[in-house]
Amino acid sequence: MRKGFYFNIKMSKEQATLHLSERVNQMAISQTIAMAQKARELTAQGKPIIKLSLGEPDFQTPDHIKAAAKQAIDDGHTFYTAVPGNLDLREAIANKLKRDNDLHWEAKNIVVSTGAKQSLANVFMALLNPGDEVVILAPYWVSYSEIVKLAEGTAVLVTGDIVNDFKVTPEQIEAAITPRTKAILYSSPSNPTGTVYSRTELEAFAEVVARHEHVFVVADEIYEYITFEDDYFSIGAVDAIRDRVITINGFSKGFAMTGWRVGYMAGPEWMAKACDKIQGQITSGTCSIAQKAAYTAISGDLTPTFEMKKAYQRRRDLVLGLCKEIEGVKTYMPQGAFYLFPDVSHYYGKSDGTQSIQDSDDLCLYLLSDAHVALVPGSAFGAPECIRISYAASDEELTEAMKRIKNSLAKLK
Ligand code: PMP
Ligand code: GLU
Repeated sequence: MRKGFYFNIKMSKEQATLHLSERVNQMAISQTIAMAQKARELTAQGKPIIKLSLGEPDFQTPDHIKAAAKQAIDDGHTFYTAVPGNLDLREAIANKLKRDNDLHWEAKNIVVSTGAKQSLANVFMALLNPGDEVVILAPYWVSYSEIVKLAEGTAVLVTGDIVNDFKVTPEQIEAAITPRTKAILYSSPSNPTGTVYSRTELEAFAEVVARHEHVFVVADEIYEYITFEDDYFSIGAVDAIRDRVITINGFSKGFAMTGWRVGYMAGPEWMAKACDKIQGQITSGTCSIAQKAAYTAISGDLTPTFEMKKAYQRRRDLVLGLCKEIEGVKTYMPQGAFYLFPDVSHYYGKSDGTQSIQDSDDLCLYLLSDAHVALVPGSAFGAPECIRISYAASDEELTEAMKRIKNSLAKLK
C-alpha cells in the first residue's frame, strides 16, 4: 500500500473508526463537555439557553491570583518547569495538606499536572495492568470510568441510593473487592451528587481497605473547599491506610481556575515518581505561569474562596427549594460541590404529544429544546433515573431555569 494513502483520501466516519485504535473507539465522549458544547451552539444560533450543564464555577479567578500570573510573565517565568511542578508550589501544597487534611506528605510526594483530570489519568496509567479492577462509588464523575478503561482496567460500579443521599455503604465496598481489585475511587464532595462522606463513614471505608492489603484508595477531593458543613475529612488521615491513599486535588473549583489547568496528586513516593515519569514523556508538566498563580492561590488569602462557597450554599438552597415544588421529582440534601442530582424517572414513559421521554437522555434533550435549559443526563454518571443540575450560575438564571423546567415537565402526560 502506498505510503500516505490514508491521508490522501477523504474518510467517512466508518473508515475513521476502522483505522482508530480500540482504545479510542471504546471510549465514550465526555457528556458534560458534549452538553456544554451543544448549549454553546444553540446560544450562537440565538436561542436563550440557560447553561446548567458544565460543572464550572461562574466566578472570575480572584484578582490577587490573576495579578500573580501577570507578575510571573513580567518576571520571565516563561521556561519549562521541573516536570512534577515548581518546588515552591509543591511545598505550599504539602503545607496545605498538613494544615487542612492531616496528610503528611512532602514535596517529593506531590506531582502537579494539567488539571486533576490529568492527575487521575497519571495515577491509573501508573497503577493498572490489563484487567485490574477499580471499584468506583456511583453515581460517579463521567471521566472516571473512561480513564480506567484507557488504562486497560475494569470499572466495577457500587451504587448509592438517593434515599441515603447516594452514599455507598462499607458492606457494598467489601462485597465488590476481589483479588483483582487495585483501587477504590470516589469524589467527596461528589460530582454529580454533591454528597459528602463524613469522618465516621470514611473511617468505616478505611476499615474495609485495611483488611485488603492489595487495595489502594484514590480520593478525589477537588470540591473540598465547597462544603457546607465544617468537618471535612480526608480518608488519607486514617493511620491504618495512610500509605495506601492517593489524594487528588486541584485549583479549578475552590479558586475558580478551570482554564488555568492545575491539579495535583499526593501519595507514596513511588507513585509520585511514576506520575513524574509518565508526565515527563507526555506533557513536561503544566504551564509555568499557571503554577505561579496556583502558588499564590494556595498560600494566600482564602477569603474569596469562602465567599464563593457562601454563594454556592445560598444557590443550593434556592435550587433545592424550587426543585421540591416540582411534582414527581425526588430530591435529597447535597452538602457540597455545586450540583443537584434529582430523580426524574417519574416522567419516563410520558410525552408532550410530540417528543416521547424514555430516559434521562430524552429528558435532557426535551428540556434543552422546550425549556432552553442545558443539563446533563444521569446516564453519563451511572444513574439513568436522574439528571444533573449544575447550580454554578446566578440566582436570576437559576430561578428562571427552574421555572422553565417546571413548566416543561408539566406538559408531559
Ligand atoms: N474530579 C472531579 C470530581 C471533577 O468534577 C473535575 C472537574 N472537571 C475534575 C476532577 C477535574 O478537574 P480539573 O481537571 O479541572 O482540575
Ligand atoms: N467537572 C466538570 C463537569 O463535570 C467539568 C467538565 C469535565 O471536565 O468533565 O462538568
